[in-house]
Amino acid sequence: MADDPDRLNAPLPWHAACWERVCTLRETDRLPHALLLCGVRGMGKDRFARLLAHALLCETPADAAMPCGTCRSCRLTQAGTHPDLHRCAPEEDKSIINIDQIRAIGRFLELKAHYTGRKVVLIHPADQMNLSAANGLLKMLEEPPAGVHLILLSHRPAALPATVRSRCQRLTLALEDPRPALDWLARQPGIEPEEAAPLLALAQGGPLAAAELAAQGHLGRRQTMLQELQGIARRELDPLQVAENWLKFDAKASLYWLHGWLIDMIRLQAADRPPCVGNPDGLDTLSRLSSELKGPWLFTQLDRIAQALRLLEGPANAQLLLEEVLLPWAQREGERARVL
Ligand SMILES: [Zn+2]
Repeated sequence: MADDPDRLNAPLPWHAACWERVCTLRETDRLPHALLLCGVRGMGKDRFARLLAHALLCETPADAAMPCGTCRSCRLTQAGTHPDLHRCAPEEDKSIINIDQIRAIGRFLELKAHYTGRKVVLIHPADQMNLSAANGLLKMLEEPPAGVHLILLSHRPAALPATVRSRCQRLTLALEDPRPALDWLARQPGIEPEEAAPLLALAQGGPLAAAELAAQGHLGRRQTMLQELQGIARRELDPLQVAENWLKFDAKASLYWLHGWLIDMIRLQAADRPPCVGNPDGLDTLSRLSSELKGPWLFTQLDRIAQALRLLEGPANAQLLLEEVLLPWAQREGERARVL
């Protein structure tokens, strides 16, 4: 049976080592009161932090410090109404965590714990705190009341002020061995075993992000787009029509993918078997294309895409931008040389 991402009575397979580490810290009473939980997008940081909060608040923990799932505290956590658990995230339609939200944490910390004497605060994503919010949190990180655990989650911890980072103990979720994540992905509905590795690479190593990409049909869409790119280069397809197809899907995602393909083509020109490629799902087509195109021309296209992505942030005509990016691919060899 596929794993239910909301099932909170076990760590995800690739979290096992980190969970053991946390258990050891708990058993020896060394679990820090301020934890910075890091890891790429889609690594399951939120899931791990919720399980940890659940376990910390459980009144009768089971083996391996897992929450029992039946005590009063566990039932409240499962219902999302535990009074000793506070979640802080950007408000709806906002991307920033502001100082008022940090003050609310301060008020929460002043209250007496209801059940186990412990209280847990989750801040996610912590790197979205603005400067005054981050400054407001410093005092709490320095001297948290007894029994309080502050868990900050971030996939880009470098964006946090150094003052915040230095007051937290960092715990990084990573795929030291990708096999548990690949096995899990291969068991997810709609994913063929051979698709697990390319999906994981496409999601930059985040298994949950990889499963989401699969659910959105990205792997098949990418294959189609790469074939369309090859079709333009062979003058079999009209770049304006392809631009329209790409726009219907997602202009920005299309440009990011094209950017990634170009980087791999440059890598493939530098080495027959490059030690790392970002797009293993398109390797055959990328190899063929890279053998037909010149290195400097590929670099020119990288610049063109970077500029198009910048312009897309503003009120640009996305169809025109895609056309400008794709038209050079229809030029003949000699015309490509004149571009340089
Ligand atoms: Zn319990």
